[in-house]
Amino acid sequence: MSENNAVEKPQPKITRCAQPYWQSCLQEKLSLPYCKACDAVFYYPRLWCPGCFNQDLDWKTVSGRGRVYSYSVVHQSPLPSYQQDVPYVLAVIELEEGPRMMTNVINCDVDAVHVDMPVAVTFEQRGDMKIPQFQPV
Ligand SMILES: [Zn+2]
Repeated sequence: MSENNAVEKPQPKITRCAQPYWQSCLQEKLSLPYCKACDAVFYYPRLWCPGCFNQDLDWKTVSGRGRVYSYSVVHQSPLPSYQQDVPYVLAVIELEEGPRMMTNVINCDVDAVHVDMPVAVTFEQRGDMKIPQFQPV
């Protein structure tokens, strides 16, 4: 499928509590919610800390570096908008700061991806949003 015929990928719906996350992505920074009570950084954004249920939260810009925790190579996309990308890597990345994110590993051969592979965040422009993706370092 050529670029011109590409079906656009869906954009995430931005919830109120995730607005700072997506704002930081627009600046190509990865910021995650931070619990002032127990110092936990966590993902995904929510209104309380998953460790201690505290609601006094802030945001912390994290390194964007991590390692592949788990992954799968997708050969048959469930969505037409991803057909142009097959085969692609769907992965869980464990950030240096601890949280795990489901994302894609891009800009490399899918056969090169392996568990514990060092990766860093990069951002994919999608409409008026920037979506965090990861690539080898
Ligand atoms: Zn906490």
